[in-house]
Order: sequence, then C-alpha cells, then structure tokens
Amino acid sequence: MRYVIIRDDDTCALTPVACLEELYRPFLQRGLPVNLAAIPRVNTRAVWRDGSPEGFRAFASGKEPPHLALADNPDLVGYLKANPGFRLALHGYEHTYMEFQRARGADLVHRLDHGLKFFAQAGFSPPTTFVAPYDQLSRAALCEVTQRLPILSTGWFELGRLPVRWWPVYLRKKLRRTPHWRVGTTRLLTHPGCLLSHQRDLSRMLDTIRRALENAPLTVLVTHWWEYFHRGVRNPAYIDVLHQTAALLASEADIRVISFDDLLHPDAALGEALRASGLG
Ligand SMILES: [Zn+2]
Repeated sequence: MRYVIIRDDDTCALTPVACLEELYRPFLQRGLPVNLAAIPRVNTRAVWRDGSPEGFRAFASGKEPPHLALADNPDLVGYLKANPGFRLALHGYEHTYMEFQRARGADLVHRLDHGLKFFAQAGFSPPTTFVAPYDQLSRAALCEVTQRLPILSTGWFELGRLPVRWWPVYLRKKLRRTPHWRVGTTRLLTHPGCLLSHQRDLSRMLDTIRRALENAPLTVLVTHWWEYFHRGVRNPAYIDVLHQTAALLASEADIRVISFDDLLHPDAALGEALRASGLG
C-alpha cells in the first residue's frame, strides 16, 4: 500500500470559500482528505522578497485591516467545519516573509502560542501539524515548533539548522535514505517539491506525480489554492490537472490518501509504510 498526504498551503481569512469548493469538492466527494495549512492571523499586506503582493492576497481589496484572524471570516470557518474532509495544519502565524527563519526564541514562541490561540478562537481543535511559511525554519524554530506539535511537514532538512542533539538520528536517516524521519515522538516529513505548481508544465504534471508516487510508501503532495486563481484569474487547465490528480489517487487500488493526523494513529498497514518511510 502507498500513502499520499495532500497539503494545500495559505488558506486564511482572505480565502474565498468558492475557491476551496471548486478545487477540492472532487476530493471530498471521493473521501480523500485534504490538509489545509492555514494562516491563523494573516498579514493582509504580506509581500514576497521583491515587494510584490503574496499570492494569497489574490482576492483582497487592499482595504482590509492589517491583520485578519481566521474567525474574522465566519463563512470560511463555517465551511471548513461543515466539511470534515478538510483537516487544518498550522501555517506560521501571520505569514510575513520568512517568518519562522528568525533566530529569536521569544518572538517564535509568541507567534506559535498566538497562532494556536487564534485556531482555538475560531473553534478548531488543536492542530497536530506545523508547516512553516516558505518551508523555512531556523534551528530555534525547529525546537519551539516540535515542543508544541508532534508533526512537522517541510521541504527538506539541513544538518546545520538542526538541534545538535538530533544529529545522530539525522545521520542515521541519511544512511537509510528514507524521505522522512522521527526524533522521539516528533514526526519530520519532507516532500518532493511543489509538483502541483502553476510554474510547471501542465501537460507533464500528472506523469511527474505518478512517478513520484511510484515505490514511495508515503508522499506529501504540496500545492497552493491561489495558484489556480493567480492574481484573481481562474486557470481552468490547471484546475483540471488537480481534478485529474483526484481521479488518479482514487483509481489506484494500492494508493490510500490520508491526513497528517492519521500518522498518529496508524493501523497495521500504515504502520508498515511508516517504518519503511522512516517514520516508524
Ligand atoms: Zn505559505
């Protein structure tokens, strides 16, 4: 059995319900869970390194208050609660540029604890999983995040940014060549890049995904909802690729789509896949 986790980043108070509904109804209808890495209190003026607006501002008017908590969008909160196929992961705090690459522990603690508070304030259960904006974490951030949440999903790990006490376990992971690893009760997952990205060749995307899933016991597929509506313009061809991905995942008898939360309560088959992928 091969397992797949779908991770969509950047849901926040600026996300129109209609976007999530169009993108993910075919997944939910097939019983495939979708993990939304959600920003608890979004910075509505967030910009890229070059100063251009963040993609998740695609539908913002520019007249919003500087920050919006999830609870400030009751339509979105109600929609997510009404559709339990969506599972929420904590995606930073306000998603300012490289927010969790900072070194100062006190600042990171503030962001994490307030992020969790804003999740609770919106009535969501405590998240099990953390996703850093841009998948970038400092050593201090790794320590603070993993003291609070049992699962971290990111792009890759570098020895130089890991807590020194993790080094022996990391070196064992490198020797075993597993994609994921575990330190005590902390599950550390990598992903093979954003295979579903509007910057990639749409005609080859499905094949690339199919290849990535081959022989991989557990794969995290990452995408961003706003890329299908870049700058507010709907991209039907790209949306179609996402929907073909749902059909592919549902049609393969030996593929099961799971949520991050499922990693904490594996049945026998998933337990086997977790051991093979480094999470056992
Ligand atoms: Zn993000």
